[in-house]
Amino acid sequence: GCPRLCRRLEGETARAVLANADTLLFDCDGVLWRGEAAVSGAAAALGKLAAAGKRLCYVTNNSGRTRAAYTEKLRRLGFPPAELRHIFSSAFCAARYLRQALPPGAAAYVLGSPALAAELEAVGIPHLGPGPAALPGPAPADWVQAPLDPAVRAVLVGFDEHFSYAKLCQALRYLLRGGPDCLLVGTNRDHRLPLEGGAGIPGTGCLVKAVETAAQREAFIVGKPNRFMFDCVAGEFRVDPARTIMVGDRLDTDILMGNDCGLTTLLTLTGVTTLDEARGHRDSGCPARHGLVPDYYVDSIADLLPALGE
Ligand code: PLP
Ligand code: CA
Repeated sequence: GCPRLCRRLEGETARAVLANADTLLFDCDGVLWRGEAAVSGAAAALGKLAAAGKRLCYVTNNSGRTRAAYTEKLRRLGFPPAELRHIFSSAFCAARYLRQALPPGAAAYVLGSPALAAELEAVGIPHLGPGPAALPGPAPADWVQAPLDPAVRAVLVGFDEHFSYAKLCQALRYLLRGGPDCLLVGTNRDHRLPLEGGAGIPGTGCLVKAVETAAQREAFIVGKPNRFMFDCVAGEFRVDPARTIMVGDRLDTDILMGNDCGLTTLLTLTGVTTLDEARGHRDSGCPARHGLVPDYYVDSIADLLPALGE
């Protein structure tokens, strides 16, 4: 297709692009809010989009919250009301993936949050693992004696603030016991979570890599840039990629997934990416970096307000 140009979305073009879309997929952190603070004007912009009859969906790699917690956060920050079916989080989509991939009754060993456990429960998958894990014995050689649950047929790795060497050992033992019959699934590969002021903490990708390294096999990744999350959206709603806009703040997750799925891609500069980085990919002439170039950018999604008749 045509080269993507990373042009500022404004004026007549903004009106035309929005008029052509019936669905918008929003990444959350860095686009709608940063931490607990809404991006200024974002709620008003989404209110206008909803009033104009657009379908708004939320596509987030964060496995640390349930869908219900997302609808509640959207409400609290003044965004238009969202139903559970509009929320596509990596925790929910991972549960959906395991539901379809595991035989009935099979359980998952989970490195993850209580929210990830709750999404598994919601689709009826027994699980063990969340929360702190005690060392199974005084010496590593004792650890291979700890009991294994015979029902476990998958290891699922999400954001786990209680990640530990003991859990890594247990995950490896399940993967070695099951061989290829034990699935290895990661919620996402984000390498870092941005905090205010440019600080960052290690992201879920670090934990997935640890398990992959131990097991010497590659995980199936649910989250962006994998197209599985978009397929979940398309399975729930009749979405036409040509009439869908993916809005995100990260090039290697949001924008890459949107481009791969044939969506119109819109980068916002309220999150982790600078305009120079996006232009660097565009101007590199490197085909391998072309998927990282968005069609358009805005400083903030609040900049869409004029095109929405404000
Ligand atoms: N993973 C975790 C654990 C997070 O806390 C966040 C952001 O808060 C993300 C991933 C990235 O989320 P998003 O895809 O909404 O930017
Ligand atoms: Ca983001």
